[in-house]
Amino acid sequence: MVNEKMRELGARRSVIRELFEYGKVRRAEIGAENVFDFSLGNPSVEAPSSVNRELKRLIDSESSILLHGYTSAQGDASVRGAVADYINRTQGEEINADCLYMTVGAAAALTCTLTALVQEGEEVIVPSPYFPEYKVFVERCGAKIVEVPCKREDFQLDVEAIRKAVNDKTAAIIINSPNNPTGTVFSEESICSLADMLREKAWELGHPIYIIADEPYRELVYDGARVPYITKYYDDTVVSYSFSKSLSLPGERIGYALVCPRAKDFVAVYQAICGAGRALGYVCAPSLLQKLLPRVLGEVSDIGVYDKNRRLLLEKLTEYGIECVKPEGAFYLFIKSPSGDSAEFCERAKRFEILLVPSDDFGCGGYARLAYCVKTEEIERALPAFKALAESYRQ
Ligand code: PLP
Repeated sequence: MVNEKMRELGARRSVIRELFEYGKVRRAEIGAENVFDFSLGNPSVEAPSSVNRELKRLIDSESSILLHGYTSAQGDASVRGAVADYINRTQGEEINADCLYMTVGAAAALTCTLTALVQEGEEVIVPSPYFPEYKVFVERCGAKIVEVPCKREDFQLDVEAIRKAVNDKTAAIIINSPNNPTGTVFSEESICSLADMLREKAWELGHPIYIIADEPYRELVYDGARVPYITKYYDDTVVSYSFSKSLSLPGERIGYALVCPRAKDFVAVYQAICGAGRALGYVCAPSLLQKLLPRVLGEVSDIGVYDKNRRLLLEKLTEYGIECVKPEGAFYLFIKSPSGDSAEFCERAKRFEILLVPSDDFGCGGYARLAYCVKTEEIERALPAFKALAESYRQ
């Protein structure tokens, strides 16, 4: 018999995908230039030129047996070594290749880590708003997601509220900074106080509470914002990382899970992540993409375009009287619904051919998410529609 939970997941598209499909239909009906689609977090900036150049060099110079063959399940040892050296150099960490497990993007890093650390009946805390797939990944483990709202004034972590949500069933907390959907970078102060609180609670409860630091947007920061490296603050941490956004390679599927070398049960955690990858049938991360990494580590797509978009939108929407959360990172703008109702706001925006994602799916009402990883001309073209949308609330 078909697994009903899986059937439901497959039959019901996410709100974001639904909007994206709607956008396709609308583009065919009224012309692509008349639809302002800000639904999907798909990078619009080209991968750095070194990516294609080094891929070509690899293909031309290496044996195809080596290039396209299976790697070790946890990833090629020399690739993991190069990634570890890079992290040590840039974050002042002291990790080695054996802290890293290469994955099929951040989504696989998350599913492997959650499968490794979370048992049936346990709970995973997620500060809201949050990336909606967390719920799917956590529930697949037979666990429950516990949403704890971030502070409304700045969307920073509300550590006191998180403390109240911790109980003997709490296995982990997922934090995502720079954040999808708010663009917030969690401050060092909030990370320190989260780490202190979790250490205290873990000691009191007599079991570890893991931080899963989901960081696909680490390099996408503006105005010099600094993203604290979580292992430096809390030992029982697993970092979920992806090159999808920093190298504009979301379809190629490459990332990693990193276990902090100082995690109390380091060996068991790392083995459980390898076991989860095996149970989930990942076999190994794409070999060609793994082998590309040592040649392009430290390269980042031109985020100047995102920064320009961010500034333009913030300035213009504020001028039109639409309130936004000022993003410090990622490529999302979190816009407050003038009516207080996110679904109403996004439905109304559709009348002006603007596609925004209602915030309810991110576990937070009253806002809409705008993905500004588009060409700047698209934003410029959409500005009159935003103006008209804002004015429609004043009529
Ligand atoms: N985590 C967050 C917060 C994301 O926004 C995304 C993708 O948009 C992912 C994880 C998944 O990333 P990947 O494409 O590397 O699987």
